[in-house]
Amino acid sequence: MKKFGLIGYPLSHTFSPSYFAEKFKQLELIDHSYKAYPIASVEGFRHLSLDHFVGMNVTIPYKESIMDFLNHIDPQAEEIAAVNTIHFTPDGLKGYNTDIDGFKDSVEPLLGDIKKALILGTGGASKAVSHALKLLGVDVLFVSRSKDKLQYRDLDETIIAEHRLIVNTTPLGMSPLHKQQPKIPYQFIGADHLCYDLIYNPEKTLFLKSAQAQGARIKNGLQMLEIQAEKSWEIWREQA
Ligand code: NAP
Repeated sequence: MKKFGLIGYPLSHTFSPSYFAEKFKQLELIDHSYKAYPIASVEGFRHLSLDHFVGMNVTIPYKESIMDFLNHIDPQAEEIAAVNTIHFTPDGLKGYNTDIDGFKDSVEPLLGDIKKALILGTGGASKAVSHALKLLGVDVLFVSRSKDKLQYRDLDETIIAEHRLIVNTTPLGMSPLHKQQPKIPYQFIGADHLCYDLIYNPEKTLFLKSAQAQGARIKNGLQMLEIQAEKSWEIWREQA
């Protein structure tokens, strides 16, 4: 038996269990299972029965705190201090971050000559996005509600015109905040912009609708999610 899973909290409408169930079915891996493990505190990880585990994904709010439980951390994950993939190996538990590749590989074909990006929000996912953009040679500017950073009210026509990639990493647009969008001056967005929302449900958030109404190209977070899952599988499969 080979066990896989996802830890996080809460885990209501998660993508990964059905994604991996379908993959195992297609690959005829009948002794493989992938389950969601909602744990109310990261300490709950210690109490899971970890026998037969090969791999685990980690989501909000444990991407950072899980690192204390791991024996080795991949340098990219170390750099952004967030792990979303654990590999159970004979040498111990190894942590990786496949969100970086998920964002990088999904945005790269769309970049063209874009060299500057605005990242809305400064949470865990924004760090993976920023690292991916650094690898792609794109300069980033974070926009935050915090007073010590560039704030939404500071955004003007010049800043929006200069930053032709705008990435939403806030939860605005996703249930229960599905009627909200980041407070940016959409009127300055145009056909040269690419607006990317990490949210994939709903398929088109208000942020993406408003950007599209201005003529911008838009992209949601579904391909990023699929690529990060595939990259996790690539890490696990040699042992699976
Ligand atoms: P997070 O750590 O909670 O960070 C979100 C950031 O958004 C916060 O740090 C905050 O930054 C800002 N924010 C939070 N509430 C806000 C509000 N009411 N108004 C304006 N800004 C707000 O979450 P995360 O882990 O980074 O995830 C962010 C989003 O990305 C989620 O929707 C998640 O589902 C999605 N995601 C998608 C993928 C994918 O594969 N597609 C992967 C990872 C995450 P400031 O305090 O600086 O404003």
